[in-house]
Amino acid sequence: MSAHPLYTADRLDRAAKAAAAAGLDALLVGPGADLRFLTGYDALPLERLTCLVLPASRDAFLVVPALERPAALASPAGDLGIEIVGWGESEDPYALIAARLPHTVAAVAVDNHMWAEKAAAFREALPEARQELAGQVLGALRTRKVPAEVEALRRAGAAIDRVHSRMGEWLRAGRSEREVGRDIAAAILDEGHVRTDFVIVGSGPNSASPHHELSDRVVEHGDPVVVDIGGTTADGYCSDSTRTYVVGEPSPEFLRLYEVLLAAQCAQTDAVRPGLTSGELDAVGRDPITAAGFGAHFIHRTGHGIGLDTHEEPYIVSGSPVVLEPGMAFSVEPGIYLEGKYGARIEDIVVCGEHGGERLNLTSRELRVLP
Ligand code: ZN
Ligand code: ZN
Repeated sequence: MSAHPLYTADRLDRAAKAAAAAGLDALLVGPGADLRFLTGYDALPLERLTCLVLPASRDAFLVVPALERPAALASPAGDLGIEIVGWGESEDPYALIAARLPHTVAAVAVDNHMWAEKAAAFREALPEARQELAGQVLGALRTRKVPAEVEALRRAGAAIDRVHSRMGEWLRAGRSEREVGRDIAAAILDEGHVRTDFVIVGSGPNSASPHHELSDRVVEHGDPVVVDIGGTTADGYCSDSTRTYVVGEPSPEFLRLYEVLLAAQCAQTDAVRPGLTSGELDAVGRDPITAAGFGAHFIHRTGHGIGLDTHEEPYIVSGSPVVLEPGMAFSVEPGIYLEGKYGARIEDIVVCGEHGGERLNLTSRELRVLP
């Protein structure tokens, strides 16, 4: 067996060191992006307990229901050299974990998305231990991507770009958003993802609703259409990209709106560099949109971090003091929405490098006019 190129044991070492530095005796991590980040195991979120136990100064071990043990062993976690402990249906996995931890455990941290009933069971099994959130140590590790993670995000970006490049095959007048969305969802899988995470096709007035998904509205000639799509690749890393299309002839008013938006989005992606705060990056796009009279119609933050989750830290939001650092990956997705009329959004994933940003979505950002 050889280690997975992405999920190597140094992630466990880095997390254990960070836990020790934070004064924590152990991290308790259930199914979700944190567990996948640490072990590569994409565990099912079940009522039965699956939990990576990562003591600050002992070997990590993974506790899984006995029936899930073959799946855990077959995942990259099986190649990490950690013990994978199966528990039987009549055993108490919380007591099993408590018995394997040192008696002097004073503080543990559960992952931020652990089910409340499981966190409560740990509180009972470890009554002497203070319980904190593991995000305080895992957040920093997940936010600053290592080169192998950036490469995984680059592959995800290329995969969703291939779907946008094919939009003319599906998006045309006379088809409903739902029909178009079904074709896009299939293409997301065909073009290099194992899961379709979301498909937004907002046509005509629906393009003015940022999180509109799909409806039975039939696309009409002259409609602007916002298409925001994303999926998860086999590696676990996510894609997310928005392009705005017009079916037929765009109106001069819409062209003006789009010109303002495109200039703002380009300025923002060009501005990405270490040392800039997330709030400053938000302002780079928001100020020209406001100056053009559309400020009240840019109704959401500029973007969100992306990695093993589609939405994670850092958030690019007005006033945020978070300082951009090399390895941070996030969306830059300003939008202008005229309620009841139409809207537009342009979204690229950008990675902050040592000297500037790298866009991971490379399809043209010009307005795409489809016949
Ligand atoms: Zn998006
Ligand atoms: Zn996004």
